Amino acid sequence: MADRDADAARLETAWRECYLDPGRAGAAGRALAEGGGALAAWGWLHVALAESRIGDPSVARQALDTALDGFERAGDRRGRLLTAEVLAILRRRSGDVETAAAILAGLDGADTSVYTPLDQFIAHNSRALTFKLAGQPDEALRHYYVSLDAAEASGNEGARITALLNLASLHHDLYNLDDARALTERALDAARAAGAQHIVAITMENLVLTHWSSGDLLRAREVTEALIAHLGSELGAELPNRSTAIALGHLASGRFDEAETWLGPDFAGECTDLDSATLWTWVRARCALARGDAALARRIAERTMQAHRHVGLADSPFNLMELHRVLADACEQLDDTPSALGHMRRAHDLYVELVGRSARARRVALQIGFELDRAQRERDHAVDSHRAAEADRRSLEELNAALQGQIAANEALQAQLREQALRDPLTGLHNRRYLFEVAPAMLERARREDNALAVVLLDLDHFKLLNDTYGHHAGDLTLQRFAALLQQTMRRSDVVCRHGGEEFVALLPGMNGAGAATLLDRMLQAYQAEGVTIGKRRTPRGSFSAGVALFPRHGSTLEQLLSSADRALYRAKQQGRARVELAATAGLSASA
Ligand code: GH3
Ligand code: MG
Ligand code: MG
Repeated sequence: MADRDADAARLETAWRECYLDPGRAGAAGRALAEGGGALAAWGWLHVALAESRIGDPSVARQALDTALDGFERAGDRRGRLLTAEVLAILRRRSGDVETAAAILAGLDGADTSVYTPLDQFIAHNSRALTFKLAGQPDEALRHYYVSLDAAEASGNEGARITALLNLASLHHDLYNLDDARALTERALDAARAAGAQHIVAITMENLVLTHWSSGDLLRAREVTEALIAHLGSELGAELPNRSTAIALGHLASGRFDEAETWLGPDFAGECTDLDSATLWTWVRARCALARGDAALARRIAERTMQAHRHVGLADSPFNLMELHRVLADACEQLDDTPSALGHMRRAHDLYVELVGRSARARRVALQIGFELDRAQRERDHAVDSHRAAEADRRSLEELNAALQGQIAANEALQAQLREQALRDPLTGLHNRRYLFEVAPAMLERARREDNALAVVLLDLDHFKLLNDTYGHHAGDLTLQRFAALLQQTMRRSDVVCRHGGEEFVALLPGMNGAGAATLLDRMLQAYQAEGVTIGKRRTPRGSFSAGVALFPRHGSTLEQLLSSADRALYRAKQQGRARVELAATAGLSASA
């Protein structure tokens, strides 16, 4: 566990430092790689990245192979893609721009949605450099601006400073000096904030060059002074033994001896690339010329010019222009007017080219800036509309929930209303409507199962008299008491309801005439056993009469059965009340 934490910390260091201090990033990568844990392949990738930039290309190559092996075994797509990115960097660093471009072209078809912003920075920075070297500055600018965006999104200071410096350097090459200066100053602020002293020094050197190129000799001198102070205090003993930029700063102040000290006697192939050699050469030649040694100036400048033609690579037109200028001045002093004129023309052509490039770079930069802003706005807009859609969805859900609640409440209310519509409020028994709703199904079932069913009509005796004697309230209480008794007497499967007034109906499935008669007689006895107490008064014991009709003997529909039961009830009343009468069969049976 602790090892895994240590590995994660090493990988974090490698990512943080890979553009600030490649040495440290490489060391962290190596420790990670040699630990052999799950992140070892990432360690090798960082070893390769660091070595490709500051070290041994063959070591880088080997590290890259090991990394790729690890990523392939782990099925790590992002790792595999980044290995190819680093391979392109390595090829380009070795001068093989074509292979680098081919590797990158191959990657352009790949799905890089797995890339982090820092990966995006690496990818675009690498493409920009490759396009720059291939002489496609517009494409280079585009990728540099995207890489700057990615670097800013990544929060990686090293990447951000690198993006700013690379972009500034391309603008400088394109003679778009305003953008170059502004970007270099941003890089300087960022490098200072990150405490990256070596990068602060490099950035100041670039700034000296930019000020010189803009013809702002005063600022060039100021930055040179600051650079010397920075090198002395911040880097201590590590003062570089030569710096073309500082020499240039001294040249700007007219201190030629100082300038030559910083340049050294001869670059003698010590400058690693042609651009540095060209810069070194024209600064050196300017110094020689200033001391009146036109021959030396011409010799040095022509040597580099030949090397330049020999290599056939186009370096910064600005440096080339300065080289032609110093040659023109030297030739003029040496009275070689035709050569002087030739170099002057060439310098002028380069100037015209630079001004054209500058205008174009400015325009392209503005356009890319505009496009990137628009892309950012579109991304913001997408985020906003996603958020809005999310909010819509949520409020819709809330509305839906509210609606569901309302529906449920409504349904409950409906059920309640329905229940109320089907019940008698005084007794709590079902009412006539309910009876007519359920009866058809009960009759149908009895018919299908060939089962008996009794329909009983009950009517309280002399109820009017009770009402008249004891009051309506006593009547109501009596109705309630009777209803309770009726429910107690009947089974759950029976349907009992108040038919109206003091009349009640019961549907008794499975009950024959004899069963119904016995049941009702027992109930009549119970009812007659006690009266109703109202306050201190007690009503006289009441009675009821009942008529019973049987399905299907006395009718096949509820109406027919009720009508038979009603006739039986009428008979019960006629015969003195307090009795149960079965419907007469003759002429009433619906069935044969
Ligand atoms: P019978 O023995 O012939 O059935 O005589 P009766 O008095 O019971 O019959 P009648 O139909 O003449 O009277 C029924 C009375 O029931 C009339 C009415 O005022 C009373 N009544 C109907 N509904 C209610 C009610 O909800 N509460 C009260 N207290 N009385 C009611
Ligand atoms: Mg009655
Ligand atoms: Mg009645």
